[in-house]
Amino acid sequence: MAKENIGAIGIDLGTFTSDIAIVERGSSELINLTKFPTLVDEGPESYMKRIVPVVNGMKNAYDGEICALGIGIPSWSGVEEAIMNSPNMKKFNGFKILGAFRLMLPWLEMKVVGDNDANVAGFAEEGYGNHHGAKEGIAGYTLGGGVGFYAFVLDPDTGKLFMLTGRKKRAGEGGHRAVPPPPGAPERKCGCGYQYCVEAGASANAVIFYAQHALSSGKPTLITEKVRQDVNYNERKSILTQVTPIHVEQAANDGDEAALQILDWLSWSLAHGIRGVIQDFDPVIFTISGGMSHWKGLIREIRKKLRTLDGVVPCREVKVVASTLENPGILGPAAMALYKFA
Ligand SMILES: [Zn+2]
Repeated sequence: MAKENIGAIGIDLGTFTSDIAIVERGSSELINLTKFPTLVDEGPESYMKRIVPVVNGMKNAYDGEICALGIGIPSWSGVEEAIMNSPNMKKFNGFKILGAFRLMLPWLEMKVVGDNDANVAGFAEEGYGNHHGAKEGIAGYTLGGGVGFYAFVLDPDTGKLFMLTGRKKRAGEGGHRAVPPPPGAPERKCGCGYQYCVEAGASANAVIFYAQHALSSGKPTLITEKVRQDVNYNERKSILTQVTPIHVEQAANDGDEAALQILDWLSWSLAHGIRGVIQDFDPVIFTISGGMSHWKGLIREIRKKLRTLDGVVPCREVKVVASTLENPGILGPAAMALYKFA
C-alpha cells in the first residue's frame, strides 16, 4: 500500500552548517530538523561521505514517502549545475553537487533540484512568508557567513513575478553589489576579492571581524562579558575565536558603545545595499533572513537609515521586514522539490 504522507528533503548548504529537514506537501513545518557541520575546508568528497548517511537515515525514519530532494546552494551556476567562484567555500568550486546526490542516492531516481541559496529562500518567502504585497515584487538578503540575495521582480505587462538570472543562471549575486564602506569601520575585503561589497560589511563574518577588532583594541566592552557568559564558552581558548554576532547583539542591547558602533556599520552596509535594490527593482517588500534577522535593533536601524537615503524610487515606500519563517533556506528548496515532483 502506498504511504499517505509525501514529503521532500530540503538542504540549506551553508558555510558553517548544512541544515536539513523534511517538508510535507501543503505544510511549512520542518520535520526532523538537523544541523550538519559543512566543514568547508575538508572539501566536497568528505562532505558527501558524511551527509549521505544522514539523508538515508532521515528517509528511513520518516513515516511516509520521500519523493524528492531540494538544495539551496551558494555561488550557484545553474547552467553548469556546479558551485563556481565561491568566496567562502573555495574547495567546493567546480563541484557538481546535484549530480553527486543523484549518483549517491539512487532511490531518489534523479529527483534532485537545486538553485542559488537565496533564490530558494525567496521562493519560500513569496509562497509561505505571508507578506502583504509580495505578489507585486519582493526581494531580500539572507545573512549568514556571506550575504545572499534574491529579487522576484514584477512584470506589469503579464502581472507575473520573474527572477533575473542571466546567461549562465548565476546572476542575482546582490550581496556583491558595491556600497560605500561604513565610515570609520576597519577595512575589510569581501571573500570575492572586491572591497566594497555589501557582504564585506554586512555578513556574520563581518560582524565577527569588527568584534575581534573591538576586543583587540584594549578598550573595555561588554562583548567580552557576553562571550564569557555563553554556555559554550571555553576559557582555554581565546575570546577572539569564540565571539559571534549574538554576543554583539546582546552587548548592543545593553547599550555597549563598541557593539552599537558595529550595529551602525552593519546597518549602514545593509541600508545602502537595499537602497540600490530599490532603485533597480522597485520591490514592495524587502525581507531579512538568516541568523542575524532575529536582531530587532538591527531591523529598526536599517529602516531608520534607509529613510534618510535619497533615490528616484522612494526608499521609504518599501517595507523592510525580518523573515518570520523558521528556516526559509530549507523550506524553499524542499517546497521547490515538492512543486516539481510531488
Ligand atoms: Zn564580494
